Amino acid sequence: MTSRNDKSISVVWFKRDMRLQDHHAINAAWESGAPVLPVYLFEPSMMIDPHYNERHWRFVWQSLLDMEQQLKPLNASLHVSYDDALPFFKRLHQHYHFITLYSYEEVGLSCTFERDKQLKAWCNSVGVEWKEFPYAGVIRGLTHRKQWLSNWRKQMRSAPLNTPIHKMSWVTNKSLVTRVPSDISAKLHQPDEHMQIGGESQAHQTLISFLDNRHYHYHKHISSPLKSFNSCSRLSPYLAWGNLSVKQVYQAISASQTPLPRSLQAFVSRLHWHCHFIQKFESECEQEFRPVNAAYQHFPYRNDEKAMQQFNAWCEGNTGIPMVDACMRSVIKTGYLNFRMRAMLVSFLTHYLLIDWRKGALHLAQQFLDFEPGIHYPQFQMQAGVTGTNTLRVYNPVKQAQDNDPNGEFIRKWVPEIAHLDIEDLFAPWQIPPLTQLTLDSPLPPRYVNPVAIPEDIIPPHRDLLWKWRERDDVRKEARRVLYRHSNPG
Ligand SMILES: Cc1cc2nc3c(=O)[nH]c(=O)nc-3n(C[C@H](O)[C@H](O)[C@H](O)COP(=O)(O)OP(=O)(O)OC[C@H]3O[C@@H](n4cnc5c(N)ncnc54)[C@H](O)[C@@H]3O)c2cc1C
Repeated sequence: MTSRNDKSISVVWFKRDMRLQDHHAINAAWESGAPVLPVYLFEPSMMIDPHYNERHWRFVWQSLLDMEQQLKPLNASLHVSYDDALPFFKRLHQHYHFITLYSYEEVGLSCTFERDKQLKAWCNSVGVEWKEFPYAGVIRGLTHRKQWLSNWRKQMRSAPLNTPIHKMSWVTNKSLVTRVPSDISAKLHQPDEHMQIGGESQAHQTLISFLDNRHYHYHKHISSPLKSFNSCSRLSPYLAWGNLSVKQVYQAISASQTPLPRSLQAFVSRLHWHCHFIQKFESECEQEFRPVNAAYQHFPYRNDEKAMQQFNAWCEGNTGIPMVDACMRSVIKTGYLNFRMRAMLVSFLTHYLLIDWRKGALHLAQQFLDFEPGIHYPQFQMQAGVTGTNTLRVYNPVKQAQDNDPNGEFIRKWVPEIAHLDIEDLFAPWQIPPLTQLTLDSPLPPRYVNPVAIPEDIIPPHRDLLWKWRERDDVRKEARRVLYRHSNPG
């Protein structure tokens, strides 16, 4: 074993906060005056968690490369290790006399929560202080929302941190690094041309391009699965993985124009939702496993063999409903889908097919490059209608296609096997009369003749069940508790 180095160091542990600017943990480490060891851990136990998929770790990898580029001229480098947190920090502690660990509070899944509890216990037992900084106005241990919004606004308007990283002294010793196995690193190093690229530089470029020109039609195009690719900000993965702080975005928008045009006002309210939803999850993280409204715990979802076949068809984008399939195939390939179409996929799964939202939440977490547990779970539950507090929104995929893809471009792009259909047949091909089908240029694939569910047919019995359940006394009682706990007064 290596001998212990008596010099004190400060350790900054990066997690979902992969940037060097406006970073509370870096700033506090700089203020400590001790040399700083910046650490990122590819944790094997996280990498096998079913919420994640290669696309997430590639985005992290790219973010690390970007940070390395920035640190290189400062003769500094990141300490990237393939290790679980507890064994890594134990080893580090044997080698270095570090007494303070700096990081952000992670509003994460149960696996990170459990890890953090164990790490905290170890820190306490060996006298390491672990200083954690709250995430973007999200408050740990909050029991009500009385001052939450005013506090959030205050935070967003406060001066961003401008840490002089060029003046910091860094620990560069790499002797403790457990390298990422080459088969994994080779895959992560390989870019995926269909996905957004991670990193602080890309994040700032995306923000600038949104502010300079892409925002003009934000409000008008937000529900279009095709146009949102360009007109929405596309900042979600950069916020989810912390390449940008919410404050940096808020302040860049506020400084861009006065008064803010309608499009940017709409955008700022979404930044607020970002933190509002994460606060919900922070306050009740059991939402990963159970509905926030406990009276939905035993809602009779379908679980038979047919339901599971339909679930698989939904996951693969092979339901036979063109808009559902186009959305699913698009998100599988690109990692992105706009809000309305995410909501429609959830509604189709939970209202039309009556399949448990938990199954779908896991599948889409793997697909969304911006997977952020704190937004994903509360949003999923809201769209599935298991909060008891919001009105039940049932999205008919045929109507969504007519409204938001009126020329069928999005469907034709992602479901090429029906691209030859005329626009009047494209959204509901099962309605084409059998004789007309014979006259088509190429035959209709069977799944589009017999889809897993025909929106108009299947909904009444399911809708009755969904609405009746909503009226139950226990659902209403729980809804009052949920509102008190998770809503901002007024
Ligand atoms: C079922 C479901 C699951 C979702 N899961 C996630 C997720 O894992 N991660 C995630 O970032 N967003 C999630 N969203 C919210 C939303 O769909 C995405 O944030 C948005 O589509 C990202 O695109 P954008 O950055 O171009 O958004 P923009 O419209 O440009 O919005 C800017 C930012 O505001 C935040 N935001 C926007 N809409 C919402 C919203 N409805 N609720 C909370 N925050 C919002 C995001 O951080 C986004 O980057 C989910 C929505 C649904 C219906």
